[in-house]
Amino acid sequence: MSVRVRFAPSPTGLLHVGALRTVLFDYLYARHEGGQCLLRIEDTDRTRYNPESEAEFVETLRWVGIEFDEGPHIGGPKGPYRQSERKEAGIYAEWIEVLQSRGHAYKAFDTSEELDQMREFQQINKQQIGYFGGDWRDADQSKVDAAIAEGKPYVIRMRVPRDRKIVVQDVIRGRIEFDSNILPDPVLIKADGMPTYHFAAMVDDHLMEITHILRGEEWIPTSPIHALLFEMFGWEAPVFVHCPVIVGADGKKLSKRHGATRVLDYMSQGYLKSALKNFIALIGWSPGNDEEVMSEEELIRLFSLEGLQPSPGRFDMEKLRWLNGVRIRSMSTEEVLGEIEGLYNEPYTKQFWDSFVDEDSVPNQPKKDGQKIWSQFERLVLFARENREYALKCIKEEQERVTNLIEFGEACEFFIVEEPPMDQKAVDKWFSQEHVRPLLEHIKATCGSSQLTVDEYREKLVSFQEAQGFEKLGPIVHPTRVALTGKTAGPGLFELMAVLGPEKISKRIDRALTLVK
Ligand code: GLU
Repeated sequence: MSVRVRFAPSPTGLLHVGALRTVLFDYLYARHEGGQCLLRIEDTDRTRYNPESEAEFVETLRWVGIEFDEGPHIGGPKGPYRQSERKEAGIYAEWIEVLQSRGHAYKAFDTSEELDQMREFQQINKQQIGYFGGDWRDADQSKVDAAIAEGKPYVIRMRVPRDRKIVVQDVIRGRIEFDSNILPDPVLIKADGMPTYHFAAMVDDHLMEITHILRGEEWIPTSPIHALLFEMFGWEAPVFVHCPVIVGADGKKLSKRHGATRVLDYMSQGYLKSALKNFIALIGWSPGNDEEVMSEEELIRLFSLEGLQPSPGRFDMEKLRWLNGVRIRSMSTEEVLGEIEGLYNEPYTKQFWDSFVDEDSVPNQPKKDGQKIWSQFERLVLFARENREYALKCIKEEQERVTNLIEFGEACEFFIVEEPPMDQKAVDKWFSQEHVRPLLEHIKATCGSSQLTVDEYREKLVSFQEAQGFEKLGPIVHPTRVALTGKTAGPGLFELMAVLGPEKISKRIDRALTLVK
């Protein structure tokens, strides 16, 4: 039987990193095995349903590049793929009948006050909390019929067998045993007729012929309920794969405190989908060697359930930045520009930067201004439309240094604006030195009229250094860089001079001369 896995989010909110990890493992495993990966929307909890959430899932997964073989947006042979629609089609009603007729489920008519009293009683008497039968698990049929005749609302609960062990086989953790006496009878069908997650998901996993359930380890405590459902129906259970929790660099469960957890936010910051997938795949999975930089094809080839780790997976931002930088450097400059244009065209990018709030600014450092970051990025994109060749040269110089796509905006700014903003501290430091005026005049005279090569620019500066008796090139290079770029750091000076060319060099030197003390 071919491998079939499903990603089954509840559309209650945003798509976070943890869910991306689950769906990525689903996807890699399905592709590795030549199987299918399904999207199923678990929207039976109408109180928490959020209509924008499903769109966010589909949109994020499209952008990240995870494709499904079946799902609500593309259809498929086992549809519908939205549980609310499956409920309307009568699928769950049919199967709950089966369980009731076999004595594995029963109607319970407790009111919410009665349930509160039960809980209070259990608390006072230090008993196990939960519904272990109440008045209804063993009620006479006549009592049940009377309650129905009275029109009392009811839920349908599972009759959890008592005094036995329930065994769940998990690929990562092996055999996990549960004592059935501590499992409350879970609700399978709610009073409004909607199935609960437990019931709907397992019925669907069977009907959709799911072979492996990959999900977060927070589902381990309820996994015996799921195993019991398969047993009660007499169906073969899928293989359970509970993936380890994701923790931040401090070892605590990943949360907003560790930075963005919404996947669209990473994409908007210019992380490449290939780097993000590479990074996420390594949280809790290892290919069995020290390899860290992997293409999607390699991830698919190497992915195996055996490589999943039981220990928490660490979300290390530094590693993501590093992987992204490696990826940017491995691409041709044409490809980088293509990615930059793609990022600009994604509707969520601008939205993200417009509403950006810098929560991790370092003390004594200016806060990052989202709108400024966006406008610098936009300027590069618009500039590249008119001046493609020059833009490619600028990007090529910055490609070595930049760690995400959005940073190209700021990094390339000095190349493309007429008068790049000047770092005042750098001006104060360098432009008060005596040799700077003759240096700038020398550059204007030797580099300001015709295009030179990188080596020729170097020679011009070295000749000034030697003529003036400077031991090192630093005092020559630093003020020149400030004069030409406004900044103290950037790509190689001679390389950037070759990109700027004589006209820009000459104009910038003129401006710098007005600032020299
Ligand atoms: N709908 C559940 C969730 O939102 C899916 C759990 C599972 O994969 O079984 O997490």
